Order: sequence, then C-alpha cells, then structure tokens
Amino acid sequence: MAFRALRVTRQEKNQSIEFVSLEDTDLMEGDVTVAVDYSTINYKDGLALTGSAPIIRVPVLIPGIDFAGTVESSSHAGFEPGDKVVLNGWGVGEAHHGGYAQRARVKGDWLVKLPGNISTKHAAAIGTAGYTAMLSILGLEHEGVTPDKGDILVTGAAGGVGSVAIAVLAKLGYRVIASTGRPSEEGYLKGLGAAEIFDRNELSGPGRPLGKERWAGAVDAVGSHTLANVISQLKYGGAVSACGLAQGLDLPASVAPFILRGVTLVGIDSVNAPYAKRVAAWNRLASDLDLAKLDAMTSVSKLDDLPVLAGDILAGKVRGRVVIDVNA
Ligand code: NDP
Repeated sequence: MAFRALRVTRQEKNQSIEFVSLEDTDLMEGDVTVAVDYSTINYKDGLALTGSAPIIRVPVLIPGIDFAGTVESSSHAGFEPGDKVVLNGWGVGEAHHGGYAQRARVKGDWLVKLPGNISTKHAAAIGTAGYTAMLSILGLEHEGVTPDKGDILVTGAAGGVGSVAIAVLAKLGYRVIASTGRPSEEGYLKGLGAAEIFDRNELSGPGRPLGKERWAGAVDAVGSHTLANVISQLKYGGAVSACGLAQGLDLPASVAPFILRGVTLVGIDSVNAPYAKRVAAWNRLASDLDLAKLDAMTSVSKLDDLPVLAGDILAGKVRGRVVIDVNA
C-alpha cells in the first residue's frame, strides 16, 4: 500500500530531506504495522532534521521519534488490529523508520496501548516531551517531593517538556515557578498553572557552589549552568529531575549541595525506559494532565511544515507542543 513520508538521506556529514511515496515493503522489520494518525516534533527531532547533532544513525531514514495511531496488523501477542497505540523512543526516528509517515512497522514491545481517555491526537500532543515531563515528576515523587515541601521550579518552561510539567504539577497541587526566557509568555504559563514567572537569565551564568535555598524540587530541561544553579538552590533534602540539554550538555556544578544539603539529582531517560515505567507514566498522564490545558499548549501542523519547524524548535521559538497530522 502506497503512503507518504518525509525521508532523510545522509552522506558523510551532509543530509537532505525529501517527501516521498513509499510502499509497505520499504518499511523496516517489526511485528506490528500501524496506520499513523499523528506524529510530533520534539527538540531531538529538530536536531535530527537539521543534522546539527548525529541523531540519525543510518544512511536513509524516516525520522520522527514519536507516533500515535491504530494497529493495522500484528503478529505480536499483545496487539490486535484496531488497538490505539503510542510509540516514544527506542531508537525509532534514529535508526529505525519513525513517525514522519502515514505508516510504520515496529516491534510490538516498543508500543504502549493508549489509556481509554487519551486519543491518538492527544497522545501525539503529549509526545516524548510530555511523557518525559511525567517521568521527571515520577522521579521527584520517588524522592519524596510533595506539594507541602515548597515551590517547584520548571526550567525551559514555555517549551514542550516544561509546558506539560507545569500543567501536571499544578493539577497535583504543587506551587510551580516557571523559568523562561520569554516574558511575553507569562499569560500562557500562568494559564497552564504557573504561580510565578522566573527570568531564566538569573540561572544561565556561572553560579556559587551553594545558593539560597529556594526549591523543594525542580524539573530541568536545560542542563549546563542552569542545572548547576538549580542544584545549588535546592532546599535541604530536595531533588531535581535532569532531563534536558537546551542550554548545554555540560554540568559545571559543585558537590557542596549534595554533601551539605543531601539533595538528589535524578536522571531521566525516555528512550530506553522500561515498559512498566512507560505504562505508569502514560496512566498518570491520563489521570493527572488536564486535556483542556493540553489543547491550549498544542498547535497542529503538517509533514510539509517540518523543515521549518525543525529550525524553529532549536531556536527556542516553538511554544508548547506541535502535533504533526501526517494525513493532512
Ligand atoms: P523545546 O524546544 O520545546 O523546549 C526547550 C526550552 O528550553 C525552550 O522552549 C526554552 O524555554 C528553553 N531554552 C532553549 N534554549 C535555551 C538556552 N540556551 N538556555 C536556557 N533555556 C533555553 O524542547 P523540548 O521541551 O522538546 O525538550 C527540552 C529538552 O529536553 C531538550 O534538551 C531535549 O533534548 C530534552 N529531552 C530529553 C529527553 C530525555 O529522554 N531525557 C526526552 C525529551 C526531551 P523558554 O523559552 O521558556 O526559556
């Protein structure tokens, strides 16, 4: 069956994008074939599409690290035609054909069945960014961070991870402080549930080993000096979930907050997170993410828009989440 896809071809360090018509025989191996309804664009997809980081690891690839759709055929015991499913990570969109196509064939072990109240469009709106936000919140809960302990900081607030984190944390009763470089998004961020806006420039430069104790917990999508400063400002016994690198991969931090305040740095990986953790995160998203707020942070684009969106997301110009309607 013919279907439309965005395809990247890599030669040495150069890569090109084309829109192509493919057949099922062009798909890679897998035991479940999915009619894709929606994909999305995450920061990592921006890196992959522009080639600005070596995300794509094969010469010819359909990118897209996420998709949501309907199972069409399956030889996997866990899935049957008609099941609504979501895929996040597992090297899809990196080494295995991904979501920027109307069809996908993958290992059933990589798929999660959608909780009943989450449509394929909402699943794509959540995407890897939102599922990572939930993993980050689960990480804080695991460390005993509760709403009564004090303020929670979310960095990269107006981005995808940040927007979902704010909405979920606010619904759970936390007082959320949103760190952003876009003061113009104050209304948007408060609409998602942020109590206050914090200027990200206060966190982006070299800081002191120990700062004033401000945060009971934090979700950090930014890394580098920002994460170092967040660690230095955690309250005694606080925790920060580190999930991103929007400022940089480095971590110029001190051990002082760890050995003097007993703080915890929680590492968050979405790509190879085990199945049980994924299902737990998706079930919590189903109960703890207000779908009206998800709609408020989501815009819809087409496959053709991806080359422009890729540059925009790396430039920090994308607000919230973008769903890609692959059939539009
Ligand atoms: P977005 O681009 O949507 O959001 C990133 C946000 O970070 C921007 O909106 C901006 O927020 C802020 N930001 C951008 N550049 C800088 C900078 N130089 N200094 C400080 N802040 C900056 O990306 P996503 O939300 O999709 O992803 C966020 C991060 O999380 C990325 O680094 C991504 O790679 C990572 N990630 C990691 C995953 C994992 O498995 N660990 C999974 C998913 C994402 P504002 O304008 O509000 O300041």
